[in-house]
Amino acid sequence: MTVLTGARLVTPAGVLDGGWLRLAGGRITELGGGPVASSENVVSLDGGWLVPGFIDVHVHGGGGHDFTASAEEMAAGIEFHRRHGTTRTLVSLMAGALDAMCEQLGWLVALAAADDRIAGAHLEGPFLAESRCGAQNAAHLQLPDRQMLAKLLDAGQSLVRTMTVAPELPGALGLISDLAEAGVVAAVGHTDASYEQAQAGFAAGARLATHLYNAMPPIRHRAPGAAIAALESAAFLELVNDGVHMHPAMIRHAAGYRMDRLLLITDAMSATGVGDGSYSLGGLPVTVVDGQARAAETGSLAGSTLTMDGAFRRAVREVGLPIEAAVAAASGNPARLLGLGDRCGALAAGLAADLVHLDDELAVRRVMIDGRWR
Ligand SMILES: [Zn+2]
Repeated sequence: MTVLTGARLVTPAGVLDGGWLRLAGGRITELGGGPVASSENVVSLDGGWLVPGFIDVHVHGGGGHDFTASAEEMAAGIEFHRRHGTTRTLVSLMAGALDAMCEQLGWLVALAAADDRIAGAHLEGPFLAESRCGAQNAAHLQLPDRQMLAKLLDAGQSLVRTMTVAPELPGALGLISDLAEAGVVAAVGHTDASYEQAQAGFAAGARLATHLYNAMPPIRHRAPGAAIAALESAAFLELVNDGVHMHPAMIRHAAGYRMDRLLLITDAMSATGVGDGSYSLGGLPVTVVDGQARAAETGSLAGSTLTMDGAFRRAVREVGLPIEAAVAAASGNPARLLGLGDRCGALAAGLAADLVHLDDELAVRRVMIDGRWR
């Protein structure tokens, strides 16, 4: 049994300044704000902040590793993000040939069997709008197809947890209700949907908006589009908070609708943490300049070079969210999206001892998974 003290604890009920947190068996057993009994194994963190481990539900790679390259690269990319505080990962796979996507799902199934911190897969395609495909390879986009979906879900062996679909495509609404029935979260994204078409997608069962504002029509006063439909729905809202994908005011705008539905994601690609240069994303060439990843051919944003600690820090310091709301967006809300709220996502008794210790500037000092510092 260990008691951590000496840092500010960000709990769902607020910040415990001078609080303590007791760990045993890889779990948080108790926490509080009063003095700690002296007989215990007390470890002082010497300042900073203690927050729950981050949960990234949309990420493609990092540290030079692309999840679609091989099982080894997938594992190495996940490990890279753990150093930045991501203690649970939903691996995003892009539109590809059906065989290739199934093979990548096979790697994921094998990795997740040995590592329960891999929460599953997000399929970002292939049922997307060509006009909003961003850096995805348009040659691999498909119209909604139930047989193809069945093959993908089969290859994922119940680890496909979310799937991005453009709701305006023929057959999309039926596919969204199929996903909901199969226990997979349908996400509206990479879409040219009108406000009404997007509303139909949410009514059919979609519970998530894939990188809100990006890869969907801009908000116009006579054509509010998928973004406003998403904001008005009960769906969770992914945000790529890197200062490039959107203005911080747009995050405050989303927070004004549903603070408890915001999800900080990275959408990170392999160049994350490596530097500028030439890379590939889903098989297409991508150029990274000043940390901005863009498809070499079209100039579209091609994912980000963000890490979860960076997204969190920006949410507090640049966007101005209360730190409790930023913690919820990086941990508690994605845990609820994935149905893991009873296992992780907050500093609370009974939940996994997945912790990030941040310094006063909100930079990562150490990451704990299952009660062990890494
Ligand atoms: Zn993505």
